[in-house]
Amino acid sequence: MNRNDAPRNPATTAPATFHVKSFGCQMNIYDGERMAEMLGTQGMTPAAEGAEADLVILNTCHIREKAVDKVYSDIGRLTRDDGSRPMIAVAGCVAQAEGSEIQRRARNVDIVVGPQAYHRLPHLIDKVGRGEAAVDTDMPAASKFGALPARTKQARPTAFLTIMEGCDKFCTYCVVPYTRGAEISRSWSAIVDEAKALVDGGAREITLLGQNVNAWTGDDDKGRAQGMDGLVRELAKIPDLRRIRYTTSHPNDMSDGLIAAHGEIDKLMPFLHLPVQAGNDRILKAMNRSHSADSYLRIIERVRQARPDIAISGDFIVGFPGETDAEFEDTLRIVEQVRYAQCYSFKYSPRPGTPAADMDHQIAAEVMDERLARLQAVLNRQQAAFNAATVGRTTQILLERKGRHPGQLIGKSPWLQSVVVTAPELEIGDFVDVDIISAGPNSLAGETVRRKAA
Ligand code: SF4
Repeated sequence: MNRNDAPRNPATTAPATFHVKSFGCQMNIYDGERMAEMLGTQGMTPAAEGAEADLVILNTCHIREKAVDKVYSDIGRLTRDDGSRPMIAVAGCVAQAEGSEIQRRARNVDIVVGPQAYHRLPHLIDKVGRGEAAVDTDMPAASKFGALPARTKQARPTAFLTIMEGCDKFCTYCVVPYTRGAEISRSWSAIVDEAKALVDGGAREITLLGQNVNAWTGDDDKGRAQGMDGLVRELAKIPDLRRIRYTTSHPNDMSDGLIAAHGEIDKLMPFLHLPVQAGNDRILKAMNRSHSADSYLRIIERVRQARPDIAISGDFIVGFPGETDAEFEDTLRIVEQVRYAQCYSFKYSPRPGTPAADMDHQIAAEVMDERLARLQAVLNRQQAAFNAATVGRTTQILLERKGRHPGQLIGKSPWLQSVVVTAPELEIGDFVDVDIISAGPNSLAGETVRRKAA
């Protein structure tokens, strides 16, 4: 018997425990948290390991080919030694894009639910119990957020908050407009209320999320039209909220107000993730990015004028169909001009159903390998230089988690660098001033100022 066709243990028809495994972006992590909270309100309890749970939700990402393969291999691994398996739900963007393909390739999947429909999971679980097909990949006009229970108390000092979903940009390589649908902004009051609930529950830093987060628009509580800068200003009034971040942004939605906000709102952290993807205008046009290399550079310049110490991060795709050596050199050039603090870079991978997947002149794998290695060498050098420049400075970090060694804690600097300190007297959630004493490529080591002065 194929492991993907293993029978489900009948005892799991009404699941009492669940496990959510989220892949991909922060929005998926946020969605996974909301699913877990919702199942908690249904009386279900979380299980640490997938195969131990009665219900396993694989909250998938469709951006990279390997991520899809990983989902199928995870489904196979959920079969227990005795041949039984948990109830399996595939959620997220793979579910949305490949619902019928999933059922064909892995017939032991009980539930397929898209990212705009997961608030109906309890109903889908009931359907499985009745032996009915449980597939929901609708993109309902009514927001799922209104149907989800209120946020439950977080144990962490940092939290994600999705403020908008979907994308109207239709970059030719990207599946998001098809899997997440059109841009929909959550209401001002829903966001402010959720932020307050997260802060009441202990969050001190909130990262606002959206596929195109800076495209958020809405009316404030007095009916005035606002953009994301107005929303950030409102959230900054929450007394115990100390840090605000946002991701991911599109260059075309960097409004004057949002750029100015970086120089005016202390709680808005000096970090901007602003993908450019490539440095050549012909490639940017073929990607349907609707900005040029120059217009991107002008935005970076204005953001740096507003907030000189801002750290810039980005995304790059090498080997987009038709990219010549000379066009790739333009990408290296823009990287040298921007000087990034950190970046994500990938080889182009065709996503079924996107225009770029059908373009001529797909680039050979070995050419992409070589370009990616060259790009990453420059990006790694820039990241190391950015980190090294903080050595000798005193900065405030928010402690987020324990380190590997006893007494070690790891926090984040305002520039999103991980900082390791040995400070057994401190706790997760503390803000602490540290002297940065050394820098590695991916993290910094710090000494607490208080301990040094003692
Ligand atoms: S702007 Fe981002 S989410 Fe939207 S289509 Fe382009 S890459 Fe995808």
